[in-house]
Amino acid sequence: MGMTSKLMVGNWKMHGSLAANASLLPDILSGMGGVTCRAAVCVSAVYLAQAQSLLTGSALAWGAQDVSAHESGAYTGEVSAAMLHDFAVRYAIVGHSERRQYHGETDAVVASKAQRALAAGITPIVCVGESQAEREAGQTESVVKRQLAAVIHANGHCISEIVVAYEPVWAIGTGLTASPEQAQAVHAVLRAQLQAATAHADRVSILYGGSMNADNAASLLAQPDVDGGLIGGASLKAPDFLSMLKAASR
Ligand code: PEP
Repeated sequence: MGMTSKLMVGNWKMHGSLAANASLLPDILSGMGGVTCRAAVCVSAVYLAQAQSLLTGSALAWGAQDVSAHESGAYTGEVSAAMLHDFAVRYAIVGHSERRQYHGETDAVVASKAQRALAAGITPIVCVGESQAEREAGQTESVVKRQLAAVIHANGHCISEIVVAYEPVWAIGTGLTASPEQAQAVHAVLRAQLQAATAHADRVSILYGGSMNADNAASLLAQPDVDGGLIGGASLKAPDFLSMLKAASR
């Protein structure tokens, strides 16, 4: 079981606009009275300056959705960890399944990204998760362990500084959610793997992601090794996101 307060992170993906963000962020902030969990939104890199200006000093942190595996140099289109640090981001998602699937990110690339984030003082939110076919083939445990092992091996004693997000690929954006028992079973496997790597595994928040919403959040968050959520679609609606933040504050 994680030791700290729960952590709820919105993943806005490629959504938002200056105008939409200028109402969504204040709407979220204005409903955060009584929220005691940790909370953040991961926005497109082009909106980090806006997030910084609207959220500085508030209880809502902001983060990026990716970071370059390279430190600096001739990598057109990439955003480095140092650049993210310029905008005071607390978190960077790495290895989201959409990046693994559509951008060919390997376990090794994801591990390098986590390393770059940590070196810049940014907490990587390392996403792991099996596809539908892998689950059906009984490979869920081996897939998530392989994905996390790459990050553990590249990051040594810093591993207690990461956040892990278990996101079954078949549950992302599909409306299908892992049952609380299915989520807990995988989270327990990940916790044990972290425990074998660090004496501080209890400090690592293990988030669940995949169609988490205002209706199912509480039962998922009640599981002993579910330390929070990574939330896509439902994080774009202030009332839904707020009700999930409240569920995580109980
Ligand atoms: C995600 O992309 O991280 C995610 C969990 O999306 P959704 O909540 O929309 O399934």
